[in-house]
Amino acid sequence: MGRVFNFSAGPSVLPEEVLKIAGNEMMDWHGSGMSVMEMSHRSKWYDGIIKQAEADLRDLMDIPSNYKVLFLQGGAYTQFAMVPMNLMKKGKADYVNTGAWSKKAISEARKFGKVNVIASSEDSSFTYIPELDPETFSKDADYFHITTNNTIYGTRYTKLPETGKVPLVADMSSNILSEKYDVSKFGLIYAGAQKNMGPAGVVVVIIREDLVTDTQPEIPTMLKYKIHVESQSLYNTPPCYSVYICGLVYQWLKKMGGVSAIQKVNQEKAAILYDFLDSSSMFKGTVAKKDRSLMNIPFITGDKDLDAQFIQEAAAKGFVNLKGHRSVGGMRASIYNAMPVEGVQALVSFMKEFEAKNK
Ligand SMILES: *Cc1c(COP(=O)(O)O)cnc(C)c1O
Repeated sequence: MGRVFNFSAGPSVLPEEVLKIAGNEMMDWHGSGMSVMEMSHRSKWYDGIIKQAEADLRDLMDIPSNYKVLFLQGGAYTQFAMVPMNLMKKGKADYVNTGAWSKKAISEARKFGKVNVIASSEDSSFTYIPELDPETFSKDADYFHITTNNTIYGTRYTKLPETGKVPLVADMSSNILSEKYDVSKFGLIYAGAQKNMGPAGVVVVIIREDLVTDTQPEIPTMLKYKIHVESQSLYNTPPCYSVYICGLVYQWLKKMGGVSAIQKVNQEKAAILYDFLDSSSMFKGTVAKKDRSLMNIPFITGDKDLDAQFIQEAAAKGFVNLKGHRSVGGMRASIYNAMPVEGVQALVSFMKEFEAKNK
């Protein structure tokens, strides 16, 4: 089989152009005579790679100069702990519970201080983003945490909470670089790379300078933002190859016209699938319309056997990884930046055929 249309939630599809460049550079990166995997992270070559990746990400997201960019390890999971460890000075934070990832962030934060769950959509299996009333926010919280896009359920915030002086912290793992965000509205953003940026193994942290402090000596060295800021992500050996691929993805995205341009494409792609779901008598979306994700689109037929048959027949046609998360069931199409419009069009054509055949 050649290349498939890969709808995996993560690790997920990467731009073909990036894979080709990486392939071509595998044996000899830019005349170094070695692959990026084999070079010292202290070499001038690698220094150039990681600095360029940071510069391109800054460019793409318009990151203000008073923010630091870090390439760390341990995934978003480690950030669930690093955020409260480093940011909970007064020992209090507000969280919104919009699903499994928020819950994990909440339970880690509870180990370090008092967590107020301001709102939750658990009453309806996380199929919507709850309304947030600033009156209910803690004025003296160290930060306010949200998950901007809920990978498993397919919801996303369409407007950010107004947290005033309280820094807004966001898990942006599954929608970073998919739509425009004003970074200055956040105190800290973190995102695992393997959804919309690159391979697993690296998590990007964007942190406002004034939040980088070192008042708690008991925090393990590797879990302090300050250490990584001071050593520009090179305190220990970074995930060299993953950062390199992220860098290639950033260059690809710049060539595509940047975040505003890809946002248009993402809106177009999502509309193709949502419009079909809204018109189909077999397939249905599972999420409140106002909160629909551009990246992860869950849908069901309402009949488990039919869902299974669909997933199987789709895979045989080269539409793979469409099985929904085990906690939601049904199907989920993840259509990250690297999924071409043709992939979504082809999927919808297949869904139409399937519906006609199985009426
Ligand atoms: C995938 C995902 C995570 C977990 O990321 P890891 O890199 O596996 O730690 C956390 N949050 C969100 C929103 C995700 O989509």
